[in-house]
Amino acid sequence: LSPVPSDIEISRGQTPKAVDVLAKEIGLLADEIEIYGKSKAKVRLSLLERLRDQADGKYVLVAGITPTPLGEGKSTVTIGLVQALTAHLHVNSFACLRQPSQGPTFGVKGGAAGGGYAQVIPMEEFNLHLTGDIHAITAANNLLAAAIDTRILHENTQTDKALYNRLVPSVNGVREFSEIQLARLKKLGINKTDPGTLTEEEVSKFARLNIDPSTITWQRVLDTNDRFLRKITIGQASTEKGYSRQVGGAVFPEVALFGLLNAIKEGLGRARTPGSSHSSHRGLGVTGALTVLMKDAIKPNLMQTLEGTPVFVHAGPFANIAHGNSSVLADKIALKLVGEEGFVVTEAGFGADIGMEKFFNIKCRASGLVPNVVVLVATVRALKMHGGGPSVTAGVPLKKEYTEENIQLVADGCCNLQKQIQIAQLFGVPVVVALNVFKTDTRAEIDLVCELAKRAGAFDAVPCYHWSVGGKGSVDLARAVRDAANKGSHFQFLYDVQLPIVQKIRTIAQAVYGAKDIELSPEAQSKIDRYTQQGFGNLPICMAKTHLSLSHQPEKKGVPRDFILPISDVRASIGAGFIYPLVGTMSTMPGLPTRPCFYDIDLDTETEQVKGLF
Ligand code: ADP
Repeated sequence: LSPVPSDIEISRGQTPKAVDVLAKEIGLLADEIEIYGKSKAKVRLSLLERLRDQADGKYVLVAGITPTPLGEGKSTVTIGLVQALTAHLHVNSFACLRQPSQGPTFGVKGGAAGGGYAQVIPMEEFNLHLTGDIHAITAANNLLAAAIDTRILHENTQTDKALYNRLVPSVNGVREFSEIQLARLKKLGINKTDPGTLTEEEVSKFARLNIDPSTITWQRVLDTNDRFLRKITIGQASTEKGYSRQVGGAVFPEVALFGLLNAIKEGLGRARTPGSSHSSHRGLGVTGALTVLMKDAIKPNLMQTLEGTPVFVHAGPFANIAHGNSSVLADKIALKLVGEEGFVVTEAGFGADIGMEKFFNIKCRASGLVPNVVVLVATVRALKMHGGGPSVTAGVPLKKEYTEENIQLVADGCCNLQKQIQIAQLFGVPVVVALNVFKTDTRAEIDLVCELAKRAGAFDAVPCYHWSVGGKGSVDLARAVRDAANKGSHFQFLYDVQLPIVQKIRTIAQAVYGAKDIELSPEAQSKIDRYTQQGFGNLPICMAKTHLSLSHQPEKKGVPRDFILPISDVRASIGAGFIYPLVGTMSTMPGLPTRPCFYDIDLDTETEQVKGLF
């Protein structure tokens, strides 16, 4: 239709096929899905075992140039591309996306189901609770946080004997260790199974974790942009007997890398409280309960695009403060389902300097999967911003530089596109540039971007019109991606994980962001020393950096040069398996703007339809 209706109108205009029909179409057996409502299902992990010998399809990553705060259409390109591959080139394909956080949905950016005629439907369900995975992750995370502080309080206020009696209570006059406790005893080298036979020293060793509160890295998390939780003091009621400490809050950072259920246990069990000699989850006896809370969240969610192409929605961290990629498990299952000739298209958040770098260095390293093609999304509006155009703000109409032809601004801004192409090339993967066309873009502007992209080394560069016409608007992109995949990739990591932490940070800063050097705060240096000493020095790096610039300063557009990248702090996400340095003033808990998206969101109580989600 012209003009293109709103995202929500388009989404409602299409009735999704029943999810069991979709599941059957893509080769799933009836007992491999768990249906949630009419258009969503979870996929059982047993599928991986059944398809173990099936060759993987081609693996395509959608990344982008440094975006405006409005987003440049990576999700729409991802969906448009799979729609074009499936319906127009008749190739099996699958999109793997992140589940949106309610932070941006109710905050600045709005939903993330794509848009126009390239969307995941129903978009309300995609954008809101989906199947409850994020709630499960939040619950598991916060149960552990509560377990840590409660244990410290109990250790502070009870004698060894009293603690021990409570930890190993007698039931009907019989005292027995639980399985978890027996495992802990074994780990402590105490070879006894009868609680009555422990010596005083063993009782103390068993009962006390002696967690040092100043070294706890585990944070409370919430899927809401609540800046007031950036620094909070817990334990201020008199019932906590003076045990109080300052803690930080974050928006669910530690998700998406966990593979199988065992891997959750493995990951959580591995997580320890630095400074303590004990593995906190196991010592706290909470690993099993956390695994139970996550047992459904670990299964990918099956949905579909407007044109009925299958989509997995699974996990959902941001690329600036987390690694910004969907789950390894969803990609692995999708790669089997599409078959050797098929394509799986997944998206990495924000610009290639952060989402894509983490996709390669963290996600591919964890999964062992080798990508075939990078699709780099650019828009004329973002390139004009990089060329010196006025600032772009969400909710404020675009200035005339963006709505009228301006070849000079586009030409000047292409430096950012060229740099992002070069970054992708560092990893040895062919790059196809997808110019996501807006109705105000002119022929001359479009041709210029494609020409400069090819000159910068892109395998191909094509304009895409999926937003206004659906999959048929991305057929050229689909052909270019197919050709690039046939070219073959020479994938390599940017750094060796065995290198010291500082060297890995410096490599990313210099080779990817273009920094002259890095500058570590004393706090960052001492944390690096501590993590190295504790044996975590060989983890990959997940930089927490603004997505609005290649540098640490959001207002610096284009390709900033000669800057020193300040590392203000360094944290460890041991469970997820990475070290994350905080760059400049980066916070792990975003805030809300003066006029958040929630002003427009409401429910029509008669029809039960959600209004205002775009
Ligand atoms: P990203 O994934 O890069 O953050 P999205 O795909 O979510 O970006 O798109 C951001 C917003 O821009 C969405 O509301 C989408 O509908 C809109 N949008 C994307 N492409 C176009 C286009 N070509 N024309 C108009 N609006 C678009």
